[in-house]
Amino acid sequence: MVFWIAFWTSILHELEHDLIHGLYFKKNKWIHNFMLFFVWFFRPLTLNPWMRRYWHNYHHQHSGKVVDIEERGVTNGEKWSLKRLLITPDLVLGFLLRFHRLQKEILDEHRKGNFSDKDFKKLRQTILFGLLPFGIPLTFYFYFWVIIHGLTYFNLLDLGQNASFQLLDSITSPIMFVFVIPNLIRQFCLHFITSNMHYYGNVEDGNIIQQTQVLNVWWTWPFQLFCFNFGSTHSIHHFIVMETFYNRQLIARRAHSIMKNNGVHFNDIKSFSRANRGDFEVL
Ligand SMILES: [Zn+2]
Ligand SMILES: [Zn+2]
Repeated sequence: MVFWIAFWTSILHELEHDLIHGLYFKKNKWIHNFMLFFVWFFRPLTLNPWMRRYWHNYHHQHSGKVVDIEERGVTNGEKWSLKRLLITPDLVLGFLLRFHRLQKEILDEHRKGNFSDKDFKKLRQTILFGLLPFGIPLTFYFYFWVIIHGLTYFNLLDLGQNASFQLLDSITSPIMFVFVIPNLIRQFCLHFITSNMHYYGNVEDGNIIQQTQVLNVWWTWPFQLFCFNFGSTHSIHHFIVMETFYNRQLIARRAHSIMKNNGVHFNDIKSFSRANRGDFEVL
């Protein structure tokens, strides 16, 4: 059940992404906003999609730069380590463990004029409210739930006689299995793929050939299964933005051959050891 939900929520992610680009019901605000709420509710650990809209458009403009907030948020550009592995699925933990460094980097960019006052205001709003009311409470409760169940499993804690805990657990355990664990699995897969198929650090601003690689080497299939083949198709999206996720999938084979002929990298696994830097010279 957990994996089945993880699979279907990966399609909701694609729907949200295309809604952000205004591809469905752009003229009917009511249906459009209802759909955005729907896909958020079933992926409750994600950022508020109305706030994500700003950072996703920003991602298309500044992919691979220090200020690409969306990709930085999911560990793009970090050196590979146990810490990166741990924070890959978890936006809250990723924020808490990197806050000081990221804050310094963004402030530097602000000073240099690469991050406007408006961007700064939006970022502050996103940090304060972007993971409310769902993401932050559910993330903290998940860790509490894991600790309590871990201690109980190893007989270090016995709450078997505690009626109020039993009642709480009978409500929250289904929430963990239906909403939280499938989304953590899905987010691990999506964030692992996206943070490695986008280059970081030495990408020329706006150069779509350098922004991404196609990452579809055979061993990535378990990850692709829970992110609708993102490693194979997201690069196509950087070239043709206003196209739906199922069309990206349908044209993948032909698009890849054109992209290959024009210098887009394929399965550049060595970029994993370069903290996602590309091996191209900045033009
Ligand atoms: Zn997009
Ligand atoms: Zn992208």
